[in-house]
Amino acid sequence: MVKIRLSRKRVPKNQAQLEFNLERPIEKDRNHHLGGRSFYFFDFDDNVAYLTTPIVIFNKETAAERTLSSGEWARYHQNIGHSGPFADYFVDYNDETGSFRYFRDQKHSFIDKVVRRKQTFLSDIEKALEQADYSWKAPSWNCFYHATYNKRPTSVITARGHHKETIQEGIDLIVRTGHLPHNPNYLSIYPVTNPQVRINELKDPELKHSVADLKRAAISQSVEKALQLYGNNSHHRFGMSDDDPRNVELITEEMKVLKRKYPNMAFFVIQTFEDSYVKTEVLETKTRTIKKGHKALSEEISQLSLI
Ligand SMILES: [Mg+2]
Repeated sequence: MVKIRLSRKRVPKNQAQLEFNLERPIEKDRNHHLGGRSFYFFDFDDNVAYLTTPIVIFNKETAAERTLSSGEWARYHQNIGHSGPFADYFVDYNDETGSFRYFRDQKHSFIDKVVRRKQTFLSDIEKALEQADYSWKAPSWNCFYHATYNKRPTSVITARGHHKETIQEGIDLIVRTGHLPHNPNYLSIYPVTNPQVRINELKDPELKHSVADLKRAAISQSVEKALQLYGNNSHHRFGMSDDDPRNVELITEEMKVLKRKYPNMAFFVIQTFEDSYVKTEVLETKTRTIKKGHKALSEEISQLSLI
């Protein structure tokens, strides 16, 4: 489904990553000897990379705009309009003028095309790449690098509503600046609030489902696609990382459903925080914590073999 482009590489600003890469052998999937594959599903914002794309909320009385970072959004969105610091604000779901307008592709006019105006996802990635690595690489970056380096089947499941190609172009920019050795071995890309993706793929014709519900559907479809492409093998392992607690909750629920359907396969959820993560194995009716880690380098590396 997803094309891999040939790209001319530049030398990354961070030589450490390059050296790390040269020394590293290609690792086989954990259950390779049994025919099983390890599938990696990633939320993008604040999980793989920190971008500065703002979310706009509106004052209930004056309609004045207030911008939130995606981190603030993850923390407070369940209470906006009801309680907490944003009780007096509301969220507007209009794609062109509302809260998430910067998370959608904008229709570009002829003039925009002449001046090569970019979609915000691409310009935000460019801006991030000009900064030091530590400021844009988010908690699952090393895991994303590992999955890409070892060509694990990878899905990007993001709340963004861009076209799939825009997400792919953004990641290609990261490849072209040398921060990844090549493009991921994509299994699927789900920008879950893209109207076409919602209507045609995620069975949400009236555009009513929440992001967490849409991500849940995207995970289920990605697992089914994995089995179509890589065979129905009991030794497959699936893991999804996300930093939003509500998403993690529903991802876990969906994985319980998948575990009941495919009891011999293994399912993991990795909830990431700014400086730590919690890895949980999802069983048919419950979960068990496998590992908690902190940002120290040794722990980041141990996150690599998560799945
Ligand atoms: Mg996120």
